[in-house]
Amino acid sequence: MKGVTVMGLTGLEIYKQLPKKNCGECGTPTCLAFAMALASGKGALDACPYVTDAAREALDSASAPPIKAIKFGSESILGDETVIFRHDKTFYHPSTLLIQVADTLSEDEVQAKLQEINDLEFDRVGLHYSIDGVAIIEESGDPICFAKVVNQVANLTDRSLLLLSENTEALKAAVPAVASRKPLIGSATAANFEDVVNLAKEQSVPVILKAEGLDALNDLVEKAQKLGYKEFVLDPGSRSTSQTLANLTHLRRLAIKKKFRPFGYPVIAFTGKSEPLAEITEASVYVSKYASAVVLKASSKAQLLPLMTLRQNLYTDPQKPIQVEPILHTVGDVNESSPVYITTNFSLTYYSVEGEVEASKVPSYILPIDTDGTSVLTAYAAGKFEPEKIADALAACGVADKVSHRNLIIPGYVAVISGKLQEKSGWKVVVGPRESSGIVPFTRTL
Ligand code: SF4
Repeated sequence: MKGVTVMGLTGLEIYKQLPKKNCGECGTPTCLAFAMALASGKGALDACPYVTDAAREALDSASAPPIKAIKFGSESILGDETVIFRHDKTFYHPSTLLIQVADTLSEDEVQAKLQEINDLEFDRVGLHYSIDGVAIIEESGDPICFAKVVNQVANLTDRSLLLLSENTEALKAAVPAVASRKPLIGSATAANFEDVVNLAKEQSVPVILKAEGLDALNDLVEKAQKLGYKEFVLDPGSRSTSQTLANLTHLRRLAIKKKFRPFGYPVIAFTGKSEPLAEITEASVYVSKYASAVVLKASSKAQLLPLMTLRQNLYTDPQKPIQVEPILHTVGDVNESSPVYITTNFSLTYYSVEGEVEASKVPSYILPIDTDGTSVLTAYAAGKFEPEKIADALAACGVADKVSHRNLIIPGYVAVISGKLQEKSGWKVVVGPRESSGIVPFTRTL
């Protein structure tokens, strides 16, 4: 079995907790050497037989991630973030988006809503994404009705489930039948937390702790932890945009900068607005800062695509631009007369070009040059979009065997390379439009 590791602490921090017997039984000659090995991830604390329980707990707690990872459903992961700002490193787990379904809907209405939710699938810049889950909200006041709708939803989708009621009886009626789907349940409040947290513990599912404001939330977390369970998601209770934003920001700062353990859990936010544009704007605020999950009412593609686009852009690694494979791509039913476009392998650039080429209805070849995922001007300024490199890629991709002409279209922003590229490649270089939006009118001049 893999032992407890204590990476994230310095060797001296670990050393302070060790027994200092220097007996060598851990396989290193001294406690300090053992501490250094642990700090670099090269050993496990269990190798020392003399570590006290208190020291073990102190090391476990100090080395735990600032925000615990909570998993639910088939693949939703909340929290496990390590920075306040994306540019400090990266954000890891995109906010889980859950769409509300009230248990007061009729069977047919639930069916129609689930069909709409299941159809929320998008392809953008070469990536496929969909809505993450469904939040079943108990509004009926009837545990049997809630359990019935939960079962119906569970049968209609394999996405993650959130079961939401402050009525303990409703949760007890609904959770066991779907516990194998590992739903997130809630909400445990000051009034019901013992029953709800114990239910979550029995069923091995994560639970939302909800309190009005951060002081009350701190109290609730500390009391709930004493029940011997820590699979928590925090809801600071507010439903206005500004107050929720303030709460989420304080929670993230306290968890990351102050390592304040009671707030070292993922956070969930609920939209309060109903008007579609206002609700998506509100959800965008929570996705940006710092909700691990957002529950919203909107379920149309037109509303969710902008929100998911924002989420996708925030949760890419800023040091690793999204890229397409730098190979010859085709658009449409190409033939020997098809134009050949050159661009870069930065996904946003490539798919902008591809979309416009498609819109031109002229079957074409596109060769994205490997510029480490940078856009045309950035790549050119960095020396990654040079005539020699483009000529080599052109020769290697084999397009010369596929077309009967030797005309190459380059982005208008790099018109300056056309002479040298012509010389290096032997192809006639045609300067295309500066922006991809100019491709459709440009093709009419070919
Ligand atoms: Fe120190 Fe424990 Fe290793 Fe002995 S076994 S040297 S006490 S760390």
